[in-house]
Amino acid sequence: MKVKKFGGTSVGSAERIRNVGKLISDCKKDIVVLSAMSGTTNSLLEISDSVEKGDRENASQLIEALHGKYRATIEELYASDDYKAQANEIINGIFAELKALAEKDFSVGLEKEIVSKGELMSTNMMNLHLHELGINSVLLPALDIIKIDMHGEPDEAFIRTATRKALDAAPDADLYITQGFICRNEKGETDNLQRGGSDYTASLIGALLGADEIEIWTDIDGMHNNDPRFVEGTTPVHNLHFEEAAELAYFGAKILHPTCILPARQHNVPVRLLNTMDPSAEGTLIENKLDRNSIKAVAAKDNITAIKIKSGRMLLAYGFLKKVFEIFEKYETSIDMITTSEVGVSLTIDNEKNLARIEAELSQLGTVTIDRDMVIICVVGDLEWTNKGFEAAALEALRNVPVRMISYGGSNYNISFLIRKEDKTKALRLLSYHLF
Ligand code: ASP
Ligand code: MG
Repeated sequence: MKVKKFGGTSVGSAERIRNVGKLISDCKKDIVVLSAMSGTTNSLLEISDSVEKGDRENASQLIEALHGKYRATIEELYASDDYKAQANEIINGIFAELKALAEKDFSVGLEKEIVSKGELMSTNMMNLHLHELGINSVLLPALDIIKIDMHGEPDEAFIRTATRKALDAAPDADLYITQGFICRNEKGETDNLQRGGSDYTASLIGALLGADEIEIWTDIDGMHNNDPRFVEGTTPVHNLHFEEAAELAYFGAKILHPTCILPARQHNVPVRLLNTMDPSAEGTLIENKLDRNSIKAVAAKDNITAIKIKSGRMLLAYGFLKKVFEIFEKYETSIDMITTSEVGVSLTIDNEKNLARIEAELSQLGTVTIDRDMVIICVVGDLEWTNKGFEAAALEALRNVPVRMISYGGSNYNISFLIRKEDKTKALRLLSYHLF
């Protein structure tokens, strides 16, 4: 059994839905996870925003406009009037619920209800489309099978049992369809796995049910060895270790949600990235296997702030770093990179929300310097320390780029450089030129 996830653009229009329908039409007993049609989640959040601001008029206009889009998609997607009518009935029902929600007082719970409708619509439409093609697909309601606990973490035992039960209840199905992203929380309320969370749903289901493979379908042919928006001639990387993929996802490769990797990796279920626009392309296979002696890819993460704390007191003192870390912990700000010397420590954050307060407290430990608009460039591959020459090659490529920080040895899979925003494109190009 495989789990196949299709993102918003893959189901973004009647034509795209038909295209995915073709791709999954012979999926025997596979589980298909769908995102909302592209743009829908953003529209739903806008609707919720208007409710929050008390602008009911705008909320209802936005709902009408979105409803219009769905009516047009239905008109185009189904061949027969019978299926158009069935689809309109379901979608009209969901829009009636949306309108009722938009009348209520705003709360975070209300926002989650509103935003859950996107995946409910896309999966219902796909399900009916497959039925019209004569395929016996069955919906597995994500709100019955995906649950998070009080810390927002997936309740694995529940997900495993509930999903098995739902599958067993429909033994004659050709394939199963479920909503990505949405779930229930420990109170039984509608909740979600955060933006982009459909990957996570797929990874959880695939991992907990022991799937043969988890396929993540997007509109690019796998993870590329550099960012195609800045570098010409990038090529897909065909094999990645889970750790390499996690570093790349976290440090900017937009193709995969960073947390998606975790369950799959823990349960050792391979993840394959594939392209709906070119289904026969090899894509990227992510598994627990490392290609020795090769640099795989480069990624960049923007909007980084570097903070340096210099202190004479650090010299020969213990407990200094603890004090520094406690300040970041207090202000719930995570640290990405860190380098130390005997008299100072430099680290980076990607969230400036509490920076002023962090800076004030750090100032009591030493002299604080802040550099904004920085970029982390992350080079990923077999960077185990006993290998010779790889970190030198990366450094050599950046010979003419001012480097603020270097981090190496934290894992066996990456070396990271902190540079100025304005040097980013140049650095990415130089690395591609020298390394690939
Ligand atoms: N529809 C949700 C979003 O746009 C989840 C997803 O697409 O993965 O964030
Ligand atoms: Mg070495």
